[in-house]
Amino acid sequence: MRALVYRGPGSLVLEERAQPQPGPGEVVVKVQACSVCGTDLRIAGGKHSAYIDGTGRVPGHEIAGTVAEVGTGVAVKAGERVFVAPNFGCGRCRLCRRGLVNLCERPRALGITEDGGFADYLLVGQEIVAQGNLMPFAGDLDPGAVALTEPLACAIRGSSACLITRDDVVVVYGGGPIGLLHIALAGLAGASAIILCEPNAGRRVRGLEWGATAAVDATPGSLKAALDDVGARNGADVLIVATPVAAAQAEALELAAPCGRVNFFAGLPRDRSRAELDTNLIHYKELVVVGTTASNNSACQAALDLILQGRVPAGALIEARRGLASAPEAFELAGSGQVLKVVIEP
Ligand SMILES: [Zn+2]
Ligand SMILES: [Zn+2]
Repeated sequence: MRALVYRGPGSLVLEERAQPQPGPGEVVVKVQACSVCGTDLRIAGGKHSAYIDGTGRVPGHEIAGTVAEVGTGVAVKAGERVFVAPNFGCGRCRLCRRGLVNLCERPRALGITEDGGFADYLLVGQEIVAQGNLMPFAGDLDPGAVALTEPLACAIRGSSACLITRDDVVVVYGGGPIGLLHIALAGLAGASAIILCEPNAGRRVRGLEWGATAAVDATPGSLKAALDDVGARNGADVLIVATPVAAAQAEALELAAPCGRVNFFAGLPRDRSRAELDTNLIHYKELVVVGTTASNNSACQAALDLILQGRVPAGALIEARRGLASAPEAFELAGSGQVLKVVIEP
């Protein structure tokens, strides 16, 4: 089979590998779609901490496929279509027992610490299968859309942490794929106004298509004016910072209404992760400031259900599809910022 292997910074090589065979408790999935994420671009660029040695691992963690072969003692059956949730943990620590495998002391993930989905076939290990990461689904939904269960699951965790309720005024910073998913989720939660703050004009248009009620560029005062326009003179109820910009984090605290919830959803670059924040804003407005990262199985199942029910049009994020042989071009396209999501279909 073919596998796209990380061999060092800037070097992803399509290699021939033996097709994996499932041992007891293991499953081999024929990959139908694996979408390219910002994390994959960081990996390709040699900037991911799990890929320091370049020992030849396969990235790709947003995976949909068909069960090809199963080992003994496995509930899923060959031929079943599955979404593969990438994150798993030790399974024993307090956080794993609460289902927060993404926060396990030894977090592991397909495409990060184990071989992932940019290959013809994917071996899903016994621990991952046992933790319920294979999620079967019925119907003939586009596998590319199903692969986007993973980013939607990340957004669901972020959105849930903000406790959006009916009639809330919600601000989303950043109109990339994740920002658009946050807009969709805020709409489902009943927000009365959803304002996208995004410097790129094309992305602002997409934000409006995805349900934002207003979209402003990031020039000083633009967001404040938009909040005034919807009568939110004392600020927004919820602000989700889905862009790695410290100034947006600081502004979010300024523009939050009393009792507002602010999520620093995007991490800042590791070497520039200190921001100057006016913490009195948190104190005197009784703000709740949270962060969320990655996905777990319960959020993936919730995301898969939303996609299957057609309540979040995740497939509309896909603007390019490429085969494995065109993976370098797919990565280039994904890195150009000109398309929202690129899916590799082996
Ligand atoms: Zn991802
Ligand atoms: Zn654990």
